[in-house]
Parts: sequence; structure tokens; C-alpha cells
Amino acid sequence: MRLSFLGTGAAGGVPLWGCECAICTRARVDTSVRRQPNCALLEAGKTRLLIDAGVMDVAERFPPGALDAVLVTHFHADHVQGLFHLRWGKGALDVYAPHDSEGCADLYKSPGPLKFTHLSKFEKRELGEVSITAVPLVHSKPTLGYCIEHEGARLAYLSDCRELPPATLEFLQRWQPHTLCLDCTFPPGADQPRNHFDLLETVALAQHFPESEMVLMHIGHKLDAWLQDRPDALPAGMKLAYDGETLICIGVP
Ligand SMILES: [Zn+2]
Ligand SMILES: [Zn+2]
Ligand SMILES: [Zn+2]
Repeated sequence: MRLSFLGTGAAGGVPLWGCECAICTRARVDTSVRRQPNCALLEAGKTRLLIDAGVMDVAERFPPGALDAVLVTHFHADHVQGLFHLRWGKGALDVYAPHDSEGCADLYKSPGPLKFTHLSKFEKRELGEVSITAVPLVHSKPTLGYCIEHEGARLAYLSDCRELPPATLEFLQRWQPHTLCLDCTFPPGADQPRNHFDLLETVALAQHFPESEMVLMHIGHKLDAWLQDRPDALPAGMKLAYDGETLICIGVP
């Protein structure tokens, strides 16, 4: 099972519009350190799933038939904005998402080829060669993480969240992901609205999963800046995701 990160940034991406911090200034010149909003491609056997659609060129990257389905974590714009372009096209694309009566703008009203299926908490589905289980997360909109299994390899994709409901934590501890991709928007102690994990919280959570590879995503410019000054701050077994990077999750041989 392969997970390719197309966008690993928080809502505004990196560089953040109008920000003159060192990270954003560098990212305007050095495109390799840019972060687009949240989006990843999961490939397992012949199955290809897009997880969130924060990048704006989904229509160009994935012509009709290139994807089996899209898994939407929630309807904040930075996770679905790439879907808006597809609505005027032809064909059909399955989109799995949480129950959210509001959705995002007029996505429900004019879905075009997008065929929405709303998943309940802990609902399990077989999609092509993978099975997915939708797990609830605590965020400012109804939000699901996705626990994805293929040939014994288990990958959890948890964005966005500020805390895990106890039932989700219990599920994950039973399920034991080999790879756990987790929202980490802020550096430790950030005085931001508490709608996302910061690094202290992700490190605390990682202690529940000593066997898992922890991969941090949905990263804000302030976390990049904080880590640039502290290159050894991440504990063993934890790393940042980067746009364009591909993870291989093979489970235990
Ligand atoms: Zn987000
Ligand atoms: Zn900045
Ligand atoms: Zn969000």
C-alpha cells in the first residue's frame, strides 16, 4: 500500500498569503518546501483512492477513471476545494464523506458527477482491494478519519482533529496501525484556536502507539519554523510529511 502526499499544509498552505516569516519567504523562492492544502493518493493493488481534495488541480491530475473513489474527511474548504472543478464535467465519481447537512458551499446542490455517500461512525466498507473504517474525530465540523487495510497492512489517516474521542482511541489501540498519519498544525503551546493538535499533543498521543510509524501532516508555517530551529525535536518514530513524498506501508512481514 502506497500513500503519496499531494498536499501536507494547513488550511492556508505554505507560503501563507501575505506572511513574511522566514519559512514563507523561503517557500516563495524554493518550491520544494511549499505545502499545498490537504490531499493524498492511496494506491493498493489496482485500487486508487484520493483522500481529501485540497489541491486545486484534481481535475488535471486525475482524468475520469483514474480514481476509484474520493474519501473526504470533512467539508472545510481546504479539504474539498479541488472537487469544485469536477462538478461541470461528465461521468461519475464516488465520494465518501461524513454526515454533514451543511457540506461546503453548493457542493451538494450542484454535485455534477460527484456521487456522495455519507458514512456513519465506525462504518466499514470494502472499496476495491482495500477495506476502510471511518472513525470519528473531534473538530469544528463533523469529521472522519479513515483506517485503511490492505493485505494485512494498516494505515490510519487522521486529519483534522483536536482530540480523539475515547471510542476512536480504543479502536485504534485494538487495530494497531502500522502507519498513523496525524494532524499536527501547530508548534507546542501555540495560542491558536484549539481546533487542531499541536506537537506536544501528537507526541503524547504517540505514546499509545509505540509500534506505529507516526507521520505528521496538515502542517502550518509556524510548526515548520519551530522545527527549523530545533531539528532534533521530533522523537524517534515520528516524522513530518512533505508534498510529493510517498510512504510505503507493508505491515509486519
Ligand atoms: Zn484542514
Ligand atoms: Zn509564514
Ligand atoms: Zn478542518
